[in-house]
Amino acid sequence: MDLGLKGRWALVCAASKGLGRGCAEALAGEGVNVVITARGSEALEATAAAIRAANPGVEVRAVAGDIASAEGRTAALAACPQIDILINNAGGPPPGDFRAWGREEWLAALDANMLTPIELIKATVDAMAARGFGRIVNITSGAVKAPIDVLGLSNGARTGLTGFVAGIARQPQLAGRNVTINNLLPGAFDTERLQKTLAAGAAKSGTPLETVADKRRAGIPAQRFGTAAEFGAICALLCSAQAGYLTGQNILLDGGAYPGTF
Ligand code: NAP
Repeated sequence: MDLGLKGRWALVCAASKGLGRGCAEALAGEGVNVVITARGSEALEATAAAIRAANPGVEVRAVAGDIASAEGRTAALAACPQIDILINNAGGPPPGDFRAWGREEWLAALDANMLTPIELIKATVDAMAARGFGRIVNITSGAVKAPIDVLGLSNGARTGLTGFVAGIARQPQLAGRNVTINNLLPGAFDTERLQKTLAAGAAKSGTPLETVADKRRAGIPAQRFGTAAEFGAICALLCSAQAGYLTGQNILLDGGAYPGTF
């Protein structure tokens, strides 16, 4: 199916690796010009080069910087001639015990996983509405639906973003102008972040890494971890011309791990 996105411009945040990279690759594969960001420039430039090589017809721009900072956001926005598609993403907050977290830890999590997407939405939606096309996808987490106790910073910040999005996605001046805002909730995807989490679990319990990974896979009905490519493909679908009637939704991609009916 042609997703009708050829020639559009996308800003894909936090995209040198993992899920963000998967989204940038899938969009570029649909003929979308992409601006990708990450803090580390080496991996970012390597990813940009790989996307260019695979998609000679699209323009790929790399902007190094922290998307959770005002300077990082300004640079990312300035690099995109017009933003038709915005993929909000950033690293997740660290795990821990809520008793150890103070104001500083909370503000860092809120900045990266709630206020940064809100700032970027604010900077882009009205121009999208004026042009009559806009797609915003926020990468959040399955933990929004099924909170994980040690990820309290993530549960809190991402749920705040989710509540905000539920309200604004339904504004007639956005939904009525073909601007959609949805959240994609990853379960377990095989990225560097997941590998680090598994390695930390293995070290803590003194169990071999493969045993820890096998146990985690066995708890997922699909019996495997997701791939960044399949995450990117669903993201591209949400951004498609055909998806204009799909807005304000939380879409769980978890291989069936969430056990509820809804
Ligand atoms: P990843 O493999 O660690 O990749 C993270 C990417 O984001 C890298 O390119 C990283 O590059 C960039 N990044 C991180 N913080 C940034 C910042 N402040 N500004 C700009 N770029 C930044 O992680 P992932 O697995 O793709 O996860 C992406 C998001 O999904 C995270 O919020 C994570 O918590 C969430 N999530 C993931 C899973 C999963 O199973 N993978 C499950 C649930 C939720 P630099 O480090 O160079 O900046």
